[in-house]
Amino acid sequence: MIPGPIEFEPAVMQAVGMSTTSHVAPDFIESFGHSLEMMREVWMAPSGQPFIMAGTGTLAMDMAGSNLVEPGDKALVISTGYFGDRYADLLKRYGAEVTLLKAPAGDVVRLPEIEAELKRQHYKLMTFTHVDTSTAVRVDPEPIGRLGEKYGVLTILDGVCSVAGEEVRQDEWKIDVVLTASQKAVGVPPGLALMVVSERAMQAWRDRKAPVGSYYCDWTHWLPVMKAYEARRPAYFGTPAVNLVCGLEVSLGLILKEGMDARFSRHRRIGKTFREAMRSLGLKMIPVSEDVSAGTLSAPMYPEGVRAPEFMKAISKSDVILAGGLLPELKDRYFRVGHMGSVTNGDILTTVAAVEQALKECGYVT
Ligand code: PMP
Repeated sequence: MIPGPIEFEPAVMQAVGMSTTSHVAPDFIESFGHSLEMMREVWMAPSGQPFIMAGTGTLAMDMAGSNLVEPGDKALVISTGYFGDRYADLLKRYGAEVTLLKAPAGDVVRLPEIEAELKRQHYKLMTFTHVDTSTAVRVDPEPIGRLGEKYGVLTILDGVCSVAGEEVRQDEWKIDVVLTASQKAVGVPPGLALMVVSERAMQAWRDRKAPVGSYYCDWTHWLPVMKAYEARRPAYFGTPAVNLVCGLEVSLGLILKEGMDARFSRHRRIGKTFREAMRSLGLKMIPVSEDVSAGTLSAPMYPEGVRAPEFMKAISKSDVILAGGLLPELKDRYFRVGHMGSVTNGDILTTVAAVEQALKECGYVT
């Protein structure tokens, strides 16, 4: 029950475990092309350009950053935790002048504050994190996407802890890049960096004057590869993660079979139910309210008298694996529970029981 890698569906693991074919074998070209097409449906971005890369979520962040930033560009980073701060660091490497709007731990940056900053000066791009995995805070991406459109600012959504779990409607919400990694709600073992890019962002990349600062990430190399696979033609720049792409095709198929709306509401319900159970045990959450809480992940705080090392030791005796705190300033005051992808009601019940038992072993009386 950690927030990624999650538990994977047996059918996905079976596909990942098949003999590795050539990256230009006809059946692999079909799997790659089909996965690109299904990404548009999962991202709800019929007009977007999908990319499937070997790498982690940070590579997806790097690819969007390196292709869209030129030295001296102004970038606004809206941070709701550890991964927002990471984006600020990353963009600086490519020469961006970064302004960081940082939410208090457990809260979001409010829209009027974002709009005031966009009025103050012109930004080339703005980044925000749908669910920051360090705080379990969920940002509403739609109004931020629309602000980006209003002020002519490219928007990049870090959806690593959200895509295929939280509601994302990329085209309708006017978000230019929605990026993720395979190991969370997308449901494939770690190793794929995934993103869909709008035509507006691709044009900004075509219009750049300076070369892309990362050789590996440069869309000059990868766009023809994605286009070729989608046209069911062989192509090469770097060897794709063949087995993971086979798993991706199966997982995206399962996600679409469940249906995006059904999947969003299942995650919302599971997140809310889990937190209600935690509250009934007397635990508070890092997010300040349900309005800013995620469907994919929760971050309960230890009650008075319970310490992180003892709780983690007690939990390790159960069948449930949880994650510790991540936000440096609050690290020892909370734990994290991922509930995304193939998570079931039974998993939630087992987790609640394990947390209750571990608290009891730490001397906490509910
Ligand atoms: N952004 C968010 C919101 C994340 O949760 C993570 C990973 N936990 C990352 C970025 C980085 O992804 P990766 O670890 O796959 O590089």
